[in-house]
Parts: sequence; structure tokens; C-alpha cells
Amino acid sequence: MRDTAMRDARAFVVSATDVEEFRNLINGEWMQSSSKQPFDNANPADSTDIVGRFQASTAADAGLAVDAASAAFEAWKKTSVSKRAAILNRAADHLEAHADRIAREVTREMGKALNLARDEVLRSAQTLRFYAVEGQSLTGEVFPNDDADMTVYTLREPLGVVSIITPWNFPISIPARKIAPALITGNTVVFKPSSDAPLSGYRLAEALAVAGLPKGVLNFITGKAGEIGAAITEPPVIRAISFTGSTAAGEHICRSVRFTTRTQMELGGKNPLIVMDDADLDQAVDLTVKGGLSLAGQACTGTSRVLVMKQVRAEFTAKLVAKVKALKIGSGLAAGMDMGPLATAKQLETVLRYIAIGRREATLLCGGERLTGAGYDGGYYVSPAIFTDVTQQMTIAREEIFGPVIAIIEVDSYADAIAKANDTEYGLSAAIVTRNPRVMQDFANDIQSGTVKINRTTTGNLINAPFGGLKRSSTSTFRESGRTGLEFYTQIKTVYRGT
Ligand code: NAP
Repeated sequence: MRDTAMRDARAFVVSATDVEEFRNLINGEWMQSSSKQPFDNANPADSTDIVGRFQASTAADAGLAVDAASAAFEAWKKTSVSKRAAILNRAADHLEAHADRIAREVTREMGKALNLARDEVLRSAQTLRFYAVEGQSLTGEVFPNDDADMTVYTLREPLGVVSIITPWNFPISIPARKIAPALITGNTVVFKPSSDAPLSGYRLAEALAVAGLPKGVLNFITGKAGEIGAAITEPPVIRAISFTGSTAAGEHICRSVRFTTRTQMELGGKNPLIVMDDADLDQAVDLTVKGGLSLAGQACTGTSRVLVMKQVRAEFTAKLVAKVKALKIGSGLAAGMDMGPLATAKQLETVLRYIAIGRREATLLCGGERLTGAGYDGGYYVSPAIFTDVTQQMTIAREEIFGPVIAIIEVDSYADAIAKANDTEYGLSAAIVTRNPRVMQDFANDIQSGTVKINRTTTGNLINAPFGGLKRSSTSTFRESGRTGLEFYTQIKTVYRGT
């Protein structure tokens, strides 16, 4: 399918407007939706720049994708793991060879700085390579027993058809960390990217198609959740759903699927960073800015609450405000920018709404303005907002904002800091800045969070280590990433083999 797939995917250009139209990949064919009504994906730095036109798929299109994945399963399951690994490696080659172009597209469609976009593309290639190796050594266990003529062991086998649904903030690396372990373990996939950043996911699907993935093994389908969500989550043939997105959507999906469908939900966060009185305050400020603002606050693990010991609050706050005021805000494609636009018009509206709430609840120290004028008109730019005098009950201390808004909360002891940090329905990532080894150890034990950082940003995770949250940030079933990322996509059989 490789060459034809590439030719067909590239050939379909809407010449009238010069905006390229991208098709679904279903059963090895790059297809238009039966709706024949594509939707546009705009650049958040300049909404007049249309990045691409995508299929507004229908439930019928989604049904075709599910059927194709189902039909391809038996053969893919029997394909040797080394052949599957070779395809992942070739797809990684493709991403690396086109990293510059794809990185520009990532920036154009969701706004992050170009260097971060390039890192994300390369990290996605690295993820494919990681699972190409790790998937080849996934083993069962052998159990001692009293029958000398019997061997008892477990087999790990693929589940079948899995649905993969992803958000816009890491539009290629999140799909890669779900799709690679699904494919290497022998599952077939229906993949729906965010409607706000579908091109990056398209490029990943294209890389796998170019790499020689057999037809139907990966089906890529774009379209609004309201149209195709149920069709790719509710049919009984869907054996698993790996979803990353908002807690509301994740909970909705969990409620609507059968108990025989395995779910892995990576959801929201309200991530705290604690600044102890012995902290290096310059480091604490740096970690706050990098963790809270580098993706315009749109990382699920982004620093949202800073719990500062009262002895250092004034000094920390002054340093933070000075640093934030000096940040350069502009298009991610321009060199030297510290922060890009928000990713969508809806994000802009949500963030401005929370800033207005914050102005009523707490004290705004800087930022919080919609930016207009040269370089900003047509884009979704907001200056980073730092609020102080924030208390636990306030909305900006409790709800996920997912924007460049930081709430400073004063604490008077380690115990107070932990109590406040844990007083949230979320538990994705948390950090502390301290020089005290005892406090470091206590923090790792006391904090209710799936990711724990000590003198590091709340953001960022390794591809070879488990990732996931506690409480309403994740389902408490299977972790993503690393070796544990493979377990979600396999089921165990126990074999009793006599002579
Ligand atoms: P979202 O609105 O929940 O959408 C995420 C994806 O789910 C999109 O592809 C969306 O499709 C789809 N979707 C929504 N409702 C669905 C349904 N009922 N059935 C099937 N698919 C459905 O989230 P977002 O705004 O893209 O992303 C921001 C959120 O993601 C934040 O809450 C953030 O914390 C979270 N996030 C979590 C992690 C993590 O690892 N924990 C990582 C990144 C982001 P449409 O685009 O077509 O609506």
C-alpha cells in the first residue's frame, strides 16, 4: 500500500482555495468522508491562515474504520513481532527525515514554539523505536507446580480493535505513545485526533502507511466527537479505548462503554509546585515559568498552583513577576519567543473567563490581558496572569484552567503545603523545590500524585517510565509509557500444558 497511499494522500489538493484537503485512512485507502463536508483547521497565531481541510466524518465512516480494523486483526496478530518492529522503525525514519516540515505544521496548527514542536516530532520517532525494541521482549511467566509432566505458563496476546482518541496539546507525541504499543503487541487501531490539531496525527498515520503497515491495521479518521465519538467507542468489537483529554469527556466515555471494553483515560490536572523556605528561589521561579507557561499553560502537567512558604513569599513573588513580565510572546514560528498563542478560540474564551473570575477573587499582579496590535491581531494571545492572595476555596485554585494563569497560595509549614496540594480532585503531577533531603523523601510519600518531581518542573516525562495520574486525573487501571504501556494492550492466558 505504501506508494499508492502516499501518492493518493498528496494528490488531493483543493486548488480553488489552495488549502490542502487531507483524507481519512480507512482499510488502506485515503478516503473522503461520506459527508463530503470538510472542516478547516486554522493557525492560532493567525486565524486567517488555514493549515488544512479535514474530513468531517460521519458515524458511517467511523463504522467502516472499525470494520476495517476488525477484518485486519487476525492477520496482524499473526505477523511476527520483528516485522511489526521493522515497520515502527521505518515510520520513525520517515518522521526524522521530515522533522523540520512536520514541526512547522505542529506549530502552525496548535501554536507551540518551533523548537518544542521539533522536539515533539523527534520524541515521537524515539517512541516508535522504543516500542520496536521493548515490544519484542514482552514475556509471560512460568509457574512451578507439583506435576512433573506439566508446564504452566502465561501468554500475553493482543486484545483486538482498539480506539485511540487524542487532544491537541501534544498532537503527535501523545498519539505515538498510544499507537506504537498498540501495534507492536498485535492490535489493530482506529485513531481519532483532536479536531483542533488533526494534521500532526495525519502525519503520524502517513509515516506508518509509508512504512508498509498492512491495510486496515491503522485507520485514521477525523471528525467531531459529537458525530463519531460513540461509533468509535461503543461497538462491542472495540476491546479497548486509550483516551487523553478532558476529565468530563473521559468520564462520559467510561460511562457509555461496556465493561468488556478496557479503558485508559489520561485526563486533567491542577498541578501544584511547593516552594519551601530553603529553596533556591531563582530555581523555583525558573521551574514555575517553564512548568506553568512554556506551552502557554496548556500542558496537562503544567504548574497551575504555587504553594509558597510565607517566609519567602514576597521575594519569590517579586522575582516571578519580574521574570514573567520579561517573557517574549509571539508566534511559535518566530525565533526567540518564550510563549505562543492559545491553541483555539475556545481556549482563549475559557482562559479569559477564568482570568475575569480571578480578578474578582484574588489579586492580579501582572498580565491577564488579551494582546492586540501588530503581530497579535488574528491570533489568540493572552499575557500570562499571576494571581496572589489565592485561597483554597477560590475557583482559580480548584478548576483546571489550561492556560497561562498561575495562582500563588501562601503556606506556613510543610504540613500545610501538603494538605493544600492534596486538596484537589486531581492528581496528575506535583513538584517541590527544597534543599532538604528529608522533605524530598516525605514529599514523595505524602503527595497524592501520579508524577512526583523534586527540584524539577511539573511538566515532562520520560518515554521509558510509566506515566499517569491519581484521583480524577486518570483511570486507576493501566499506566502509559515505558514497559507498562504495553500491558494495557495485552491480555493474559494461563496455559497448563501436560505431556
Ligand atoms: P477534549 O475536549 O476532551 O478532547 C480530547 C479528544 O477527545 C478530542 O479528540 C475530542 O474530539 C475527543 N472527544 C471529546 N469527547 C468525546 C467523546 N464523547 N467521545 C469520543 N471522543 C471525544 O480535550 P482537549 O481540549 O482536546 O484537551 C485538553 C484536555 O486534555 C485538558 O483537560 C488536559 O488536562 C487534558 N490532557 C491530559 C493529558 C494527560 O496525559 N493526562 C495530556 C494532555 C491533555 P474533538 O476534538 O472532535 O472534540
